[in-house]
Amino acid sequence: MDACSKCESQERRWQTLPLSRGLVELSRCGSCTAEMERVHWTVASAAPVGSNCMHCGGHYKSGICLTCGKTPAAAIELHHQLLDEQGGGDFLDGARRAGAAGRLLVALKLATAAVHMGPRPPAAWVLRVRLMRALELNEEAVEDARELCRAQPQWGQAFAELALSLESLGHDGARAAADLALSMDENLPDARALRARLLYANNRFGAARMESMEVLRGPPSRARERSLELMVQYVRRLMELGEVASMRELLDSLGKDVMCSGELLALLAWQRWRDGRIDEARAVLDEADRLIPDQELVASLRRGPLAQERSFWNWLST
Ligand SMILES: [Zn+2]
Ligand SMILES: [Zn+2]
Repeated sequence: MDACSKCESQERRWQTLPLSRGLVELSRCGSCTAEMERVHWTVASAAPVGSNCMHCGGHYKSGICLTCGKTPAAAIELHHQLLDEQGGGDFLDGARRAGAAGRLLVALKLATAAVHMGPRPPAAWVLRVRLMRALELNEEAVEDARELCRAQPQWGQAFAELALSLESLGHDGARAAADLALSMDENLPDARALRARLLYANNRFGAARMESMEVLRGPPSRARERSLELMVQYVRRLMELGEVASMRELLDSLGKDVMCSGELLALLAWQRWRDGRIDEARAVLDEADRLIPDQELVASLRRGPLAQERSFWNWLST
């Protein structure tokens, strides 16, 4: 790898540009952020069904892709080369590594190759759909997920991906797809967290809370984070409505999760103040500050009801 011409650093960071500006990856110096390289990619955004070209998604005629002009053998060779550049192994592992390094377009190409060539095509297809959503190819992600459901009609995960893709388009069908996914497999935190969000958006707060709590009982995941964010929103809503007792009950039921969230700690401080537990509220404010400095709610509590009375000694030393 070339060293940065400005600062000699060997470290690089990859970034994918928004798609309105084309399918471009930028690499920047990890130290001084100078741009080092720009790579344009062709990706197959059409669903990987039948025998379409894995390089560009085009159709073959007489053994040649009508869109990019490559033969199947040339497309396979190109993807093997790409995989070797990403450290080898199988295509799915390569796609996951590239995605973790921020190279979403490389990851999408390798995931597409993994769908076409195994060893775990359904898992690779799920990754492909997720990468397309991350690249904001939302309509294409819905099409892909729909084909995945056709290919795997008994697989709840496929319907969960369809539900999430429909949600990113703001499509009404998201709820039905999530319900179907959960009827096939109860243990799909993504689909459950999505159902919680949709229930909440429909003012069904109790049901949204039950679904979120179910996700929060599970292991760390993006779905779990999103469910916790939803509960932060709910606690804040209860605060705005002045429903102190409901707030106490909800915060207590969130247990340890409250201690890891600066926002929830600030809300807990407000709640404890309203319960008249002033010392506890002040201690909680310090914890909230430690996790997220300069929160508006914390500042207003410190200025107002939880202001420390200045002691004589403090007064003397200022
Ligand atoms: Zn540099
Ligand atoms: Zn092609």
